[in-house]
Amino acid sequence: MISSISEITQLWNRALTKIEQRLGEKQVFDSFFSETYIFEIKGDVIVVAVNSSLAATLLQGKYYSIISDVVNELTESNFKLEFVPEKDLKVSDVQSIAAPTQKQKFFADSEIKSALTFDNFVVGSFNREASQASLMIASNPGKMFNPLFIYSSSGLGKTHLMHAIGNYIQNVSKPGAKILYVSGFDFVEEYIKSVRGEKDAQLLKDYICDFDVLLLDDVQMLANKVKTQDYFFTVYEKLMNAGKQIVITSDRQPIEIAELQERLVTRFSRGLIVKINEPDQNTCVEILRKKIIANGLSVDRFDDAVLYFLADKFSQNLRELEGTLNRLIFYTLSVKHTDHITLDVAAESLQSIIGGKNIASELSEQKIINVVADYYNLSPSQLTGKIRTGQIALARHIAMYLIRITLIDVSLEKIGMAFGGKDHTTVMNAIQKVDKGLKTDPSLKEAVDELQKRLKP
Ligand code: ADP
Ligand code: MG
Repeated sequence: MISSISEITQLWNRALTKIEQRLGEKQVFDSFFSETYIFEIKGDVIVVAVNSSLAATLLQGKYYSIISDVVNELTESNFKLEFVPEKDLKVSDVQSIAAPTQKQKFFADSEIKSALTFDNFVVGSFNREASQASLMIASNPGKMFNPLFIYSSSGLGKTHLMHAIGNYIQNVSKPGAKILYVSGFDFVEEYIKSVRGEKDAQLLKDYICDFDVLLLDDVQMLANKVKTQDYFFTVYEKLMNAGKQIVITSDRQPIEIAELQERLVTRFSRGLIVKINEPDQNTCVEILRKKIIANGLSVDRFDDAVLYFLADKFSQNLRELEGTLNRLIFYTLSVKHTDHITLDVAAESLQSIIGGKNIASELSEQKIINVVADYYNLSPSQLTGKIRTGQIALARHIAMYLIRITLIDVSLEKIGMAFGGKDHTTVMNAIQKVDKGLKTDPSLKEAVDELQKRLKP
């Protein structure tokens, strides 16, 4: 029987050594196993902390039987294993088991997620205003813009910013401050429970007003809910009068939220309203690089072209961008068993992940752009951008030409789109220019020949 912490640690270290031998895939081991440890043992379940959600998925799935075999051989018993990302493990999990008779608590699931911070929030022109305003109020809660109202379409970082504010206040500017993060959805739910008499409405109000900071995410969930809005209004006024900081997010600005009471629209507009726009391609690439590292992987595994392609395709929604990256990683590691993710591998994986008939041709288009950019020492976004100095323009024309001759069914309009929305006559002229030049200019011919060589699969 295992009894002490050091025995548990020893057990796990022995298990890891054996797993590494049986696995025979050093990179997989280094990325997903080497930072694991036993968090706790609950009955016959061993809870193992891992360094990412991806690691949890892999260890719970593909590698489960290897691990479980090794552990059960070593312990000579039949433990089940549960793999949980470190960031999702709370000491309170353990406490709540020990003390089941806790006082009534509202918003049971709401908590500040320590993984969502300003440090790992990438700032670009699309979100600079929102990010700076958030940092300012987090540094000085209740003293600057109140409320701070952030809006954007889905997946652009509102919730991340909310948690970043919470973490910053908790860890930096005002340790000890009481912060409540709650989604509009949970707020409505909790209020309804109190109306139904399951919980007490006054108690709920006292509970909320006791906090120093209220982070209310997705306030549009209160639209059409007259009673909930009345209730929220009284809570809001009480908090404001006490100088508490309020931060609100929504998928649109206050005035556009259908059926939101006029008095709430007025209140929400009194502080500062900021919008998050769509990120540009370079920022998306930077976000991807951060997420890859956060997953415990090396950025070198990915060809730049893959990152630029994903960034281009999913810039409207960073959640989808991240989701696709995760699925791509999962697919390439577990199904394809490749360590290096090239555009060709990505094309194949994405085809099966997201389907869509155009993806192969879009990838080829992106591949040509990347190869040409690389040849001329430009970034892909310079190549597709607006600057028209000689060398860049020439490279751009060559890229358009190569796309046209390589991908037979791609239209001039579509090529124009890939180059920042140029019209088809501009594209046509560019292609003709290269076509003519090839007959008279040997250095141009040499460049195009070399590029075609590099583009061969
Ligand atoms: P929203 O609340 O606007 O729908 P989220 O805050 O949930 O969006 O963001 C979606 C995902 O994208 C999250 O995983 C979040 O961490 C990530 N994300 C959003 N913006 C950024 C950013 N600027 N830097 C890094 N990650 C980001
Ligand atoms: Mg959100």
